[in-house]
Amino acid sequence: MLGEFDLIEKYLVGKQRQRKDVALAAGDDCALVIPPKDCHIAVTTDTLVAGTHFLPDANPAWLAHKALAANLSDLAAMGATPTWASLALTLPKLDEPWLAAFCQAFFELADYYDIQLIGGDTTKGPLAITLTVQGVVGKEQALTRHGAEPGDWIYVTGHLGDSQAGLDAILKPECQSEPFAEHLERQHFMRTPRILAGQALTRYATAAIDISDGLLADLSHILTRSEVGALLNVEQIPLSSELQEFCQSTEQAYQYALNSGEEYELCFTLPDYHREQLEQALAHTATPVTCIGQIRGQAGLECRWNDQPFAHSIQGFDHFKGHVDE
Ligand code: ADP
Ligand code: MG
Repeated sequence: MLGEFDLIEKYLVGKQRQRKDVALAAGDDCALVIPPKDCHIAVTTDTLVAGTHFLPDANPAWLAHKALAANLSDLAAMGATPTWASLALTLPKLDEPWLAAFCQAFFELADYYDIQLIGGDTTKGPLAITLTVQGVVGKEQALTRHGAEPGDWIYVTGHLGDSQAGLDAILKPECQSEPFAEHLERQHFMRTPRILAGQALTRYATAAIDISDGLLADLSHILTRSEVGALLNVEQIPLSSELQEFCQSTEQAYQYALNSGEEYELCFTLPDYHREQLEQALAHTATPVTCIGQIRGQAGLECRWNDQPFAHSIQGFDHFKGHVDE
């Protein structure tokens, strides 16, 4: 019978590429890495817990992708280049087909971004996946939430709303027969971390955040930290054609787009004089971007729909309070 150490050996170590900046990887008490000169190390952690973040029978390959993409998205929002990862896995049982599917998807995405798994921990218990990913970013180059200035344009990458619609398709029986329900379920897990876009943004953006709680909630974080307000033109928010088919009305599609969490797209602010350079730089990374509003000095977040006031509430999620209207 396979034990903890066989599992680590068979599935988690030794299968992946060796980075030159890893002096000692999994197998000892700590991993040793070699930090590059004149860089900050960006560090982020995310946990996915069965029953809280996903149903216990969720596709293991999709879970691996989501766990890594969630962390990569944080690095993207800082403009960092990912380098190393540590994985704490809590498994109810040693299920080899589950592990094989999980690891294959994990290493596929890790290899794509040249990330080395340098260590972790493996325990028995209720299914949970905790991942810490590190990256490097030049000193003074990291993107933060606090630099937005009145007059800056507000942009988002990709399109918004699919992730929450996909979650509803998974959890709400009445949504399961809507058009593109299966496509959106997959979209909920298989997000694209905007690493290259984040790196390009370090030269031009004044503030950036990744959308993990919803556009309104996350843009509000930029506004608070930068001590500014904003005007958001709701009809300019990009929607996928699948989301529009899935929804009963355009209004519903925009409600998804405004509050859908776990999108892992970037929201950023840009001075007018950098607009052209940025759009060109992002074209090289094949990242779609859309301007959806403008920062202003007056506090508060105003939403307009074709120039008419648009009522909105910011629906955040607090793990101890549940869904909250902020
Ligand atoms: P320790 O006794 O220091 O906690 P462990 O016995 O838990 O070490 O792990 C042995 C080695 O295997 C360590 O180097 C650890 O980093 C690595 N390891 C354990 N679990 C994982 C995992 N899930 N992914 C990657 N490496 C792991
Ligand atoms: Mg251990």
